Amino acid sequence: MTDPSQTADPPQMAPHRASAGFVEKTPLERYVPPAKPSLVGLSRVQLAEALGTVGVPAAQGKMRAQQIWHWLYVRGATRFDEMSSVSKELRAVLDRHFTLARPEVVAEQVSVDGTRKWLLRLPGEHAGEPPHEVECVYIPEAGRGTLCVSSQVGCTLTCSFCHTGTQRLVRNLTPGEIVGQIMVARDRLGDWLGTRGADGGPGDRLVSNIVMMGMGEPLYNFEAVRDALLLVADGEGIAISKRRITLSTSGVVPNIARAGAEIGCMLAVSLHAVRDDLRNDLVPLNRKYPIEELLDACRTYPGASNARRITFEYVMLKGVNDSLADAKALIKLLKGIPAKINLIPFNPWPGTAYECSDWGQIEKFSEIIFNAGYASPVRTPRGRDILAACGQLKSATEKLSARERLALRAMAMTD
Ligand code: SAH
Ligand code: SF4
Repeated sequence: MTDPSQTADPPQMAPHRASAGFVEKTPLERYVPPAKPSLVGLSRVQLAEALGTVGVPAAQGKMRAQQIWHWLYVRGATRFDEMSSVSKELRAVLDRHFTLARPEVVAEQVSVDGTRKWLLRLPGEHAGEPPHEVECVYIPEAGRGTLCVSSQVGCTLTCSFCHTGTQRLVRNLTPGEIVGQIMVARDRLGDWLGTRGADGGPGDRLVSNIVMMGMGEPLYNFEAVRDALLLVADGEGIAISKRRITLSTSGVVPNIARAGAEIGCMLAVSLHAVRDDLRNDLVPLNRKYPIEELLDACRTYPGASNARRITFEYVMLKGVNDSLADAKALIKLLKGIPAKINLIPFNPWPGTAYECSDWGQIEKFSEIIFNAGYASPVRTPRGRDILAACGQLKSATEKLSARERLALRAMAMTD
């Protein structure tokens, strides 16, 4: 978490695109904790510490923290007076000093097929800046429900096809804001023990999978993402297994091994090109960490195996990276890595120079990949009115194109 005394004035941002050699923007660390902090996102140890600050004797700290932990992360309590196993006196003390606040939901879109998108507003706005908003998308499918979660407001990186990359403002989310997205989703879906099906076992869960594929580069907010995901995976809390959590990175090589060792979740890599010259344009971070280094990090990713493959994301850009020679080169490049390939139809945004590949081309591309032994990576869209793809902020009323719906579905595809 950031020390507010180190808050910098907004730096003069370089133009966000194209200038040769330009790889990333500087993050603004603008998080100012509210006067009455939320307990959401605290680990057991942090909870016990917080209780100590309001007079709970150290000898009771661990036990009380465990009780509150259960109310927070298993039952999804939103008010202290729901915590019936906690004494009335302590509940009153907690209420004076803390909240159970999650990120504020400013808009919710619900599709006929159950897909939902929430626009969340986070504290830390300053005069003259746009509001700090992130989005979170829930995609239900047979047998599972995937939540696409954001790690930053905006992104310091500047991938040329990505709308998030054009946002000037960047702020790292706190662990509470990351966990809070999952809690908001469970609140809105009625997905807590006691509010969902009979026994509340894992099979009943509506949010069963997490993908860190919303706004931001999770490996540039490493500690907060790690702490949040370890909390989400805790078997006595939100309890989403690490095999059902996928972190997507544009290729922050030094933190890939760390993610394997310290988080142990599934990995997705935004490859998007098979040659460094093209990837330098699409994903400028490639100038720092070129393809070979990135793939070396994948080869040694802890825990990668045929049962736990790395997903390679590949956005389909018309006339840019979608030739059949590219498809063949992709297969060659990934040889020896336990891999899945996810073709993502490009989701256009106002002002972009790119277009999505033609459907016929995507099919031919995907056929080459399929014939090389990879599962067919593009699936048909479902529903009429599914909402915006992760990282693609939309106005509350805007309808999405079929292509956007497909992009959203492809991004959620992690198995
Ligand atoms: N920063 C991380 C995770 C967030 S982006 C990353 O880049 O991996 C999640 C995925 O959406 C990435 O694969 C990203 O390249 C892709 N993406 C971004 N903008 C897109 C767009 N307009 N259309 C389709 N996919 C896009
Ligand atoms: Fe950031 Fe990912 Fe968008 Fe690139 S694709 S600008 S890393 S959010």
